[in-house]
Amino acid sequence: MGTMNTTDLKGALESAMRGEVSDDATVLKGASRDTSLFMRMPKLVVYPQDANDVSAVVQEVGRARGAGADVSLAARSGGTDMSGGPLTTSVVVSFTKHMNHMGEVTVSRRQEAGGYAVTEPGVYYRDFEKATLQKGLLLPSYPASREIAAMGGIVSNNSGGERTLEYGKTEKYVEEVDVVLSDGSQTTFNALTPAELKEKKKLETLEGEIYRAMDTLLTDNAMLIEEKRPKVSKNSAGYALWSIKDSSTGIFNLAKLICGSQGTLALWTRAKLGLVKPKEHRAMLVIFLKDLNILPEIVNRVLPQHPESFESYDDHTFTLAVKFLPQMLSQMGLAKAARLGIDFIPEAALVATGGVPKLILMAEFAEDTIEEADRRAAAAQDALAGLDVQTKIEKDEKESEKYWIVRRESFNLLRKNLHGLVSSPFIDDFVVPPSCYPDFLPKLNALLDEYKSNMIYTVAGHIGNGNIHIIPLMDLTKEENRQVILDLAPRVYELVIKEGGTTTGEHNDGIIRTPYLPMLFGAEMVALFEKTKKVFDPQNIFNPGKKVGGTFADIKRDLIKSAED
Ligand SMILES: Cc1cc2nc3c(=O)[nH]c(=O)nc-3n(C[C@H](O)[C@H](O)[C@H](O)COP(=O)(O)OP(=O)(O)OC[C@H]3O[C@@H](n4cnc5c(N)ncnc54)[C@H](O)[C@@H]3O)c2cc1C
Repeated sequence: MGTMNTTDLKGALESAMRGEVSDDATVLKGASRDTSLFMRMPKLVVYPQDANDVSAVVQEVGRARGAGADVSLAARSGGTDMSGGPLTTSVVVSFTKHMNHMGEVTVSRRQEAGGYAVTEPGVYYRDFEKATLQKGLLLPSYPASREIAAMGGIVSNNSGGERTLEYGKTEKYVEEVDVVLSDGSQTTFNALTPAELKEKKKLETLEGEIYRAMDTLLTDNAMLIEEKRPKVSKNSAGYALWSIKDSSTGIFNLAKLICGSQGTLALWTRAKLGLVKPKEHRAMLVIFLKDLNILPEIVNRVLPQHPESFESYDDHTFTLAVKFLPQMLSQMGLAKAARLGIDFIPEAALVATGGVPKLILMAEFAEDTIEEADRRAAAAQDALAGLDVQTKIEKDEKESEKYWIVRRESFNLLRKNLHGLVSSPFIDDFVVPPSCYPDFLPKLNALLDEYKSNMIYTVAGHIGNGNIHIIPLMDLTKEENRQVILDLAPRVYELVIKEGGTTTGEHNDGIIRTPYLPMLFGAEMVALFEKTKKVFDPQNIFNPGKKVGGTFADIKRDLIKSAED
């Protein structure tokens, strides 16, 4: 730690804050992992009680860094990041212990218009949702990790999920964030009119400097930023420079930049998030597809019917699900198991007769009445007339549940049943325009096939917006398999980028994808990311090596070598 040792820093932090500081080996080990492929052992974990504690920590660390110590801060909320975002060898700022209070949930005067909720970062999504549903409202960008993730990461990763197709990602709902800046000062980022922005730019503080520099950066590089704005409907790569300023209204909101920035620009301590009133009833059109060539046509015909979600899983997932069905059912409790067991018989028969579809698509329609939802699913089914596909309508949520279980649980199922193999997110979250599927998917499959001796994989995803999740299971004790992580990812990303896609739709850059940002955005845009980082965090206190400055050597050095690491 350069000129300051850990004991000194621990003492300094303890006297500066009300919350605790830990160097306990078990605590450090817990914070050394997320759900990524990496391990970084921190030196300290701090538990701030409130925003003032966060300020004190930032100031102490800033002081130490200014004096030459190699210290920095990585925020951590649920710790479920797949990219290595909350990992550090220095100090972890952990939010779930104390900063876990839910603020008010407010319903708009017209309930159809939704409302908003105020939250601290350490609130788990499951608790957040309980509070919003009590008022009949929902944050519709919740991730599939909804039971284990917290609001800190949902906002900082710009998370999305199964309902993002209809409702968009978290960035759309982040209205306001309270932040601690890199000098320890506190402020609120929210929507500013041009006149309000002008006032902010007069401030002789770091906040004022941030507004001045960012407004200039956006104005001077408007064309480049617009050109690099992602063309696909979901993106968590890079800094969302294209989302700060609304070109028609002139509204300027830095909360949109903080969302998705993985704790590299500021630490947020309170957020105000927009909510929607969810529809009550759902019906699902299930599509069994043998010929991938007609996939874009299917997507083209289904999307105009506005499914709330449009998900898919592949033949590998399907075959595994049918094979491991008994375990899956017993894990779920008996009554439910019996019903689902019977329900799955037609699908099991399909596998037995060798007729496994290449892809199973689930288009779900949400409405205020079940009749209306069924009518919408039937209209989508009619829209597919003349195409060579089998379809089935599941008329309510009970009937469609088994498809959701396979979609949501297949990854866990695989993990639990194949011991010693590590679930390896490294090509886990790319996005391509759905129109390119016939060209892209066979190339992707051919590429993955080259590595089939190194990994077991399934392909599942948000087919409606081209967001594909591949999380192979690998034996990482073998050096040649670890090398695949470095060899295969750039080959997949080359295909993705050629189609106008992005490397990450929701899981973000972290350790695993930061080195690919130049490939995705080009050197000029990466230079703007570096400038942005410098404006907010000139001393590089917040999460160094994520978003800016990460290297392939970082990936190689910190890769775990077994499931036990
Ligand atoms: C099985 C599984 C399924 C998943 N499915 C999805 C999915 O559908 N969609 C999706 O988007 N993701 C998904 N993820 C990834 C992850 O769960 C989400 O991105 C989640 O939102 C992260 O939340 P967290 O609180 O666990 O974040 P953490 O892991 O705690 O942190 C994530 C990032 O946010 C930063 N951060 C945390 N708190 C703050 C703060 N207060 N201020 C500043 N920065 C902060 C951290 O430094 C880190 O870089 C999945 C993960 C798993 C294991």
